[in-house]
Amino acid sequence: MKCDVLTIFPGIFDAYLNESILKRAREKGLLEVRLYNIRDFTSDPHRSVDDHPYGGGAGMVFKPEPIFRAVDFLREDGEPRRIILLSPQGRPFNQSTAEAYARQTQRFVFICGRYEGIDERVKTLVDEEVSIGDYVITGGELAALVIIDAVTRLIPGALGDKRSAEDESFSWGLLDYPHYTRPREFRGLQVPEVLLSGNHKEIWLWRRKQALKKTLRARPDLLEKAGLTDLDRKLLSEIRESPDGDA
Ligand code: SAM
Repeated sequence: MKCDVLTIFPGIFDAYLNESILKRAREKGLLEVRLYNIRDFTSDPHRSVDDHPYGGGAGMVFKPEPIFRAVDFLREDGEPRRIILLSPQGRPFNQSTAEAYARQTQRFVFICGRYEGIDERVKTLVDEEVSIGDYVITGGELAALVIIDAVTRLIPGALGDKRSAEDESFSWGLLDYPHYTRPREFRGLQVPEVLLSGNHKEIWLWRRKQALKKTLRARPDLLEKAGLTDLDRKLLSEIRESPDGDA
């Protein structure tokens, strides 16, 4: 994944991009993030990026000129780019979007807003407005990092074991099954026997049933789109008949 980020707070990205999986992905050349300070594209002595809203009202709005200038500058190298405006008004970002982005070869540009948002005319520049959820956060930087993180883990080679991404919540249309590690017993809480059995078929079946159970409890909406098999439907009716049953 190659991306350019337009922000007035480039420092926000340092810690997150320099740890763990994103750090390793950058070192392996799987992820490239170039940070651009929108203030560098202003032309006044105060380097102002915002102004009062026309029509009055609270807060400040990002001016269009610095962002247009920044995008013109990025486009000078002729490389194709997908320009994304982070906004709570955008299309909701989800695992399918992350998978689609992970397959893209063109560079991404993430425009991070602040304050009350961005002058509406900036939208003429963008290919897509994307939201990370139905809530409002202070700036687009966290939203850009969420997207970069979710996409990077899907790039082949970014995770130590590629099965990690294949097994996670949403990748099968369901929530993930429960995980356990040592010790086998902790404060009276036991690891389910089946996981110690070495019987891979039984373990697979247990995990599938647990994933269905969690999804039914926490996100029943996902089941409607999950493409369930006959076996899943059988497991679901067992769960409905005996919701507190262990298996
Ligand atoms: N007044 C705007 C509205 O109600 O739609 C919200 C502005 S918000 C305080 C400032 C910036 O944070 C936005 O321009 C956007 O870049 C970012 N932002 C806030 N919530 C977001 C979300 N759910 N998804 C993506 N970006 C978000």
